[in-house]
Amino acid sequence: MSAPYNFSAGPAMLPAAVLQRAQEELRSWRGSGISVMEISHRDPAFMQMAFKAEQDLRDLMAIPDNYQVLFMHGGGRGQFTAVPQNIAGPNDTVDYLNGGIWSDFAIREAQKFVAKVNVIGGVIDTDLGRALTPVAQWQLSEDAAYVHYCPNETVDGLALHTIPEVAAPLVVDMSSNILSEPLPVDKFGIIYAGAQKNIGPSGFAIAIVRDDLLGRAQGTTSTIMDYTVQAKERSMYNTPNTWAWYLSGLVFEWLKEQGGVAAMGELNQRKANLLYQYIDSSDFYSNPVHPDFRSKMNVPFLLADAQLDSEFLAQAEKQGLLGLKGHRYVGGMRASIYNAMPLEGVETLVSFMREFEQKHA
Ligand SMILES: *Cc1c(COP(=O)(O)O)cnc(C)c1O
Repeated sequence: MSAPYNFSAGPAMLPAAVLQRAQEELRSWRGSGISVMEISHRDPAFMQMAFKAEQDLRDLMAIPDNYQVLFMHGGGRGQFTAVPQNIAGPNDTVDYLNGGIWSDFAIREAQKFVAKVNVIGGVIDTDLGRALTPVAQWQLSEDAAYVHYCPNETVDGLALHTIPEVAAPLVVDMSSNILSEPLPVDKFGIIYAGAQKNIGPSGFAIAIVRDDLLGRAQGTTSTIMDYTVQAKERSMYNTPNTWAWYLSGLVFEWLKEQGGVAAMGELNQRKANLLYQYIDSSDFYSNPVHPDFRSKMNVPFLLADAQLDSEFLAQAEKQGLLGLKGHRYVGGMRASIYNAMPLEGVETLVSFMREFEQKHA
């Protein structure tokens, strides 16, 4: 592996080996003379590939048998609308942690479908930086249909690294940290993720839904967002995004070859440590997040002199370090270091940052 290294937050870097394989079989998938995008999703070869992808994901995440694995349309935001439509009714109360920009969007969507969205906590400022309301202080409702939070806020670089114990089913938006480390799936009611950060192409999403949460939709759920329908139809109620499904399947195979999520978790920790340790050791760069709440996937950082931002980005790009511009809502820089980013990518970034600091400090 060598530069360019793509630090884009999403759509994000895909493993080189996956792109290579997709390229090799693009014009003739499995010797058929046509591409995987040009055959019926009901074709036995396609279905075999699709269900193998599901099985590989089940193996990777050790998903228990009492969970459905659904391949859905509409990315992460599609699930913002699917969740309240599927497991709450119009008269229900639901609990949301407002831990950052994506949580805020999820809350606004849920408000359209339920009587009350109760915000249980949010972002707080501490002496050591930005953090989240401690779980013990969450203002939980007594009768919430579910409790929703985003364990990795992609824009803010804020993460909740512990799993809260609550009575209602936990629903999590793992769009930017799914498959990044081992996870006890049985602690959750629903795990969902838009695909374009750690899985595959955008517009596609995965929802892992515990069986007892099916059948709760109260009549007004749009059919393509209906978990119960999609579970019954094995995510082929309407034509799925066949290309995204295929490419995600290649990523799952690649993950298995890398040693699965345990190996990924170790590598991701090393990558994050390297970058945060350098930022903390420097007066030229800073990260605004409390050490206990730092994301291992998205590392926002600021230059002490914001006037150097555009110079930093231009020089980085020249050296093949791409996609480092921070989100338009928060500015600064952000390095997204998902599974596909090799350790060498982060090492190269840190040496570039050091050189830039030496030149401009
Ligand atoms: C990117 C992202 C989303 C939105 O995904 P879309 O596919 O663009 O709808 C939602 N939640 C989180 C945590 C994200 O990182």
